Amino acid sequence: MRLSSYLLPTLKESPADAEITSHKLTMRAGMIRKAAAGIYTYLPFGLRSVRKVEQIVREEMEKAGALEVLMPMVVPAELWQESGRWEQYGKELLRLTDRKNSEFCLSPTHEEVITDVVRGTVRSYRQLPINLYQIQTKFRDEIRPRFGLMRGREFIMKDAYSFDLDDAGADASYERMFQAYQNIFRRCGLDFRAVEADTGNIGGTASHEFMVLADSGEDAIVSCDSCAYAANVEKAQMRTEPGTVAEATQELRLVDTPGRRSVEEVAQFLAVDPACLIKTLLVQTDSGERLAVLVRGDRELNEIKLCRLLGCNEVFMLDDDGVTAMTGAPVGFAGPVGLDCRILADLEVEFIRDGVTGGNCADRHYMGVNPGRDFTVEQYADLRSAEAGDGCPRCNGTLQMWRGIEVGHVFKLGTKYSEAMKATVLNKEGREVPLVMGCYGIGIGRTVAAAIEQHSDDNGIIFPMPIAPFQVLITLLNPKDEAVLAAGEKLYDQLRRAGVEVLLDDRDERPGKKFKDADLIGIPIRVTVGGRGLKQGEFEVYMRASGEQKMLALDKTATWLIDEVNRQLAG
Ligand code: ATP
Ligand code: MG
Repeated sequence: MRLSSYLLPTLKESPADAEITSHKLTMRAGMIRKAAAGIYTYLPFGLRSVRKVEQIVREEMEKAGALEVLMPMVVPAELWQESGRWEQYGKELLRLTDRKNSEFCLSPTHEEVITDVVRGTVRSYRQLPINLYQIQTKFRDEIRPRFGLMRGREFIMKDAYSFDLDDAGADASYERMFQAYQNIFRRCGLDFRAVEADTGNIGGTASHEFMVLADSGEDAIVSCDSCAYAANVEKAQMRTEPGTVAEATQELRLVDTPGRRSVEEVAQFLAVDPACLIKTLLVQTDSGERLAVLVRGDRELNEIKLCRLLGCNEVFMLDDDGVTAMTGAPVGFAGPVGLDCRILADLEVEFIRDGVTGGNCADRHYMGVNPGRDFTVEQYADLRSAEAGDGCPRCNGTLQMWRGIEVGHVFKLGTKYSEAMKATVLNKEGREVPLVMGCYGIGIGRTVAAAIEQHSDDNGIIFPMPIAPFQVLITLLNPKDEAVLAAGEKLYDQLRRAGVEVLLDDRDERPGKKFKDADLIGIPIRVTVGGRGLKQGEFEVYMRASGEQKMLALDKTATWLIDEVNRQLAG
């Protein structure tokens, strides 16, 4: 490809709405342009990288025995009503009506459509296992689309769905996909981890997220420093040290804490350790129950663990009026003593002796508070979020904390959809049994963005070879110099004939501009063709990742480049 006839609208400045590196760089390197919030056009340079990731995904899916299909994006409401998700899914589901007033949605995921296809085409256990996948545009009306391709509303996803006769078969399908995902993200040049993930209320039995490690990641994950345990903080457990409940030594007493509401303010004012405070969170479940949840002052409540314990979908923190209605006090002074509702508490709260809590009265806290003596907890459970430094739940190691970008998700679905939609097969005994399903997603654009988060510097992108839009860039310092043009064109042809993907910078631009663009767009290998080098019979080769520079003889350069590209592709 010749840059003189290519569309590569590079930008000096990042757009104002771009907060993270990959968003800035995908815009600046002319990869994407915004059409609306979270909705983008992929320009030629960006699309090439997207297609590279798709190709890697296709190869690994086929290797794992999955078959490619392409499902509709516009899906009739009836299918979603059958699964029950038409009512459940909420505002991320974009609903539309056609000219006959029939209802549809833009599918954010395809469990319903694929289950409908399989129930109509697969009748016998002999046709199993089967795994169908697609690479297709999804739409989710995200509340906060941001970060460019990272969290779009319209985005490209690979989604695969496995169907098995029984749990053992489904486990094997899951294992195959898990392995395929390891291969895919390794081949994309990513530093990633598979972490245990919450299965929510889908009722699945297991789920892993594939997390690319990056400070800009929206997820928090923990991993053990000495074993393989790694989990999303949403579900991460920690080792519980055996504790003993010591005797109370203090009387319960109300003390003045004028205007002190937060844990830090109260702890400082009363000169106590924040770990002595009992934080009281007043919540309402989606079924309307109001209750109090207690965690140690220096810990955070994990709402997902709380939902699991309560068997609900969501909990809401009470607003100011709700808090006052329950405690008689403004926000910041709630406590369990004398509170008239169900009280749940994190395991650690049981061991707090002579602690501090809100006094359910403005500007007052209780000191000398002792669980059991001063209030009753209905149930102690693991309700806090794991933190760096917590003990690993599997071994004697210590948990470390990371930020991660979720690029893939594998999920054992069980029979949730097959039962709701009556997708059954006849087993060996001739009995109808529901199919056991798994689903497996990869965000294609998010993977490209995550790769850029991990591979860039102050000057721009540093593409890993397997997903680079082009493998080699030939920069002609002065294309008007006939010798330069001829030597550059010759190398360009040699490389193209060998199947190397080459971009030839034959633009009539100053060398400074060309080098700036080259660094920005991050093609792994750059060859500079200039008059002075040619006189010495050499090209200059520059490696974008290492900054390494070398001079190669004109007749040796093509072979060297072909070998180097292949070496980097092999990883
Ligand atoms: P998130 O928690 O980030 O919203 P999710 O759990 O909703 O993700 P899944 O439903 O598991 O995501 O979708 C499968 C994959 O699709 C994700 O692992 C991610 O890579 C990608 N993905 C999901 N939402 C988006 C989005 N809004 N923009 C780009 N990619 C996305
Ligand atoms: Mg989501």
